[in-house]
Amino acid sequence: MQRATPQEFSRVLSSMCTEPHPDARAAAERFLATNPGDPGTYETIADIEHEVVAQLGEMVSLPEPAGYVTSGGSEANIQALRIARNRADTDEPNVVAPASAHFSFHKAAGMLGLELRTAPLDDEYQANTTAMVELADEDTVAVVGVAGTTEHGRVDPIPEIAAIADEVSALCHVDAAWGGFHLPFTDHEWDFADAPIDTMTIDPHKLGRAVVPAGGLLARSDELLDALAVETPYLESRSQATLTGTRSGAGVASARAALDALWPDGYRDQAERGQANADWLAAALEDRGYSVVEPELPLVAAEVPEKTFEALRGMDWRISRTGNGALRVVCMPHVTRETLQAFVDDLDRLE
Ligand code: PLP
Repeated sequence: MQRATPQEFSRVLSSMCTEPHPDARAAAERFLATNPGDPGTYETIADIEHEVVAQLGEMVSLPEPAGYVTSGGSEANIQALRIARNRADTDEPNVVAPASAHFSFHKAAGMLGLELRTAPLDDEYQANTTAMVELADEDTVAVVGVAGTTEHGRVDPIPEIAAIADEVSALCHVDAAWGGFHLPFTDHEWDFADAPIDTMTIDPHKLGRAVVPAGGLLARSDELLDALAVETPYLESRSQATLTGTRSGAGVASARAALDALWPDGYRDQAERGQANADWLAAALEDRGYSVVEPELPLVAAEVPEKTFEALRGMDWRISRTGNGALRVVCMPHVTRETLQAFVDDLDRLE
């Protein structure tokens, strides 16, 4: 089996993670042996985690945010649904989400005994809110919107989704795991200033350029997070709301370092570069006759024949496919214009 070396990383076009910022790497190493899951013992990293949550709150227009640094977007999504389920008063809880919701929602539903009701997408791969309204009822505990979908980089109409949640007295959760570090520099309506959102997933280890593992769960208030708290008899702290016990201080410290280095100008530059690269690749693929989904965020999906896809994989391009079999290229910060040009050159060689 081949190992991913730094050189090979430059051919990775399928990942939603990227090369960490140098400051994030250094901070991770410094805090490798710390555990924010035990804040009574590891006070410094626990303080840093509070600062990260405050910084993430600032990014998404949420003053006084509650939350913590998770192991990733999956944990944050699971925990958001767990908050909703624990607070609700029903024996048959369900969650309404668009069909584009990440597979972690399926895991969450299975673990939490929730019925996951997925609504079809519209022609633009966005949540079809008419279908979502029909699926929501008095047993709905959460209504989910995605701000930056995994397959097509689409942003659901979050204010409408929050209104559906409000209508059935459910919580509104926004999954901005990938899109959250890009969207502040666009005119999309997706954050706490635009809609009455209750919880949000936003991952520093994706576009935030922290090291893995560093996901983010934000909640509008401490009271929401309290729905997760269990007592912790052998620790000096009294309760714990996280899913895992011992956690990576490296991830937390790296998130803080990346945010310090990049918010807001560095992330703005990276967002502009990623979008320009996605637009360039979309145009290049269109010129060659492929059907391309307009990149709303820096993610390009295009229909290429299976044979071509396999040949590109054979040339060591790390690419992936959507559920419908379309080529999917994520223009993360490590993906340069030169890399995309080399990719298109290889594509031309195959034609
Ligand atoms: N949510 C979205 C929108 C994602 O794209 C992903 C992963 O790509 C996740 C959640 C899951 O994140 P993780 O792999 O960090 O658990």
